[in-house]
Amino acid sequence: MNYRHAFHAGNFADVVKHALVCLIVDYLKRKEKPFRVLDSHAGRGFYDLASDEARRTGEYREGIARFLAAPESADPVFAPYREALGPEALADPPLAYPGSPLLVRRLLRRQDRLSAYELHPVDAESLAALFAGDVQVKAIELDGWLALGAHLPPKEKRGLVLVDPPFEKPGEFDRIAAHLAKAQARWAGGIYALWYPIKRLAERDAFLAALAGSGVPDIVAAEFLREAPGPDERFVGTGLAVVNPPFTFEADATRALRLFEGIFGNTGRATSRIERVSPERG
Ligand code: SAM
Repeated sequence: MNYRHAFHAGNFADVVKHALVCLIVDYLKRKEKPFRVLDSHAGRGFYDLASDEARRTGEYREGIARFLAAPESADPVFAPYREALGPEALADPPLAYPGSPLLVRRLLRRQDRLSAYELHPVDAESLAALFAGDVQVKAIELDGWLALGAHLPPKEKRGLVLVDPPFEKPGEFDRIAAHLAKAQARWAGGIYALWYPIKRLAERDAFLAALAGSGVPDIVAAEFLREAPGPDERFVGTGLAVVNPPFTFEADATRALRLFEGIFGNTGRATSRIERVSPERG
């Protein structure tokens, strides 16, 4: 396990992913009934942007710092994300960046719960310390793929499963598609948000085809590319495949992605798209 999210926290892909995830959590709050969020690859939850790791790559400068400096970030579609960012990230310049479990936690109501899984022992310890004493959060050092089997369905009838693996091992795309089919068989009513990087269009197309062929209905993918993929296979884009998307998702995500084209499109080559991957239940 070499991947450490501290090098990448708050980069453009985090901003896009987290803004979309916050829209989904915000939608779940429309009904009074409790919901559960399960975050299978949670990271450590909070990232100091003055750390060696963050400064070494400087990725947050082209991510959260650029986002907050852009007038488009005041658009109402980003309101749930801004609400979750907290004072350290909203400072000018941003001092720290919350990871997905902390962003989600900040949006929960008293009746909602979060289960966050992290396998790296150091990050799992930081995550547990971050949520120590918080009765609404369980931070667990466990293989997130196992949790998708053993911990589904939750006792709440509604909720979101975020799957955000590091893509450091070959086969991660196939693993997601296989685990989704099994998880969805255990909890068909849950919303699933599956993150994926875009380096090569052929790889992205094969992944979406695998999702389409998994038998899981009602999948929509939202993608943002800072530039077109090139022969060097650099990481140029970010995708989120959403199973059982809220009925508001396509319109909200379309709006957010268009705004991201302006915010992160300083190359003049940014594009985005919403793609239906599998049809709604018949
Ligand atoms: N979801 C986090 C966020 O948005 O702030 C970032 C997660 S990062 C991309 C992937 C995380 O998965 C890393 O912290 C890594 O240590 C962890 N990880 C790797 N393999 C895992 C596994 N099998 N189960 C749980 N966590 C794992």
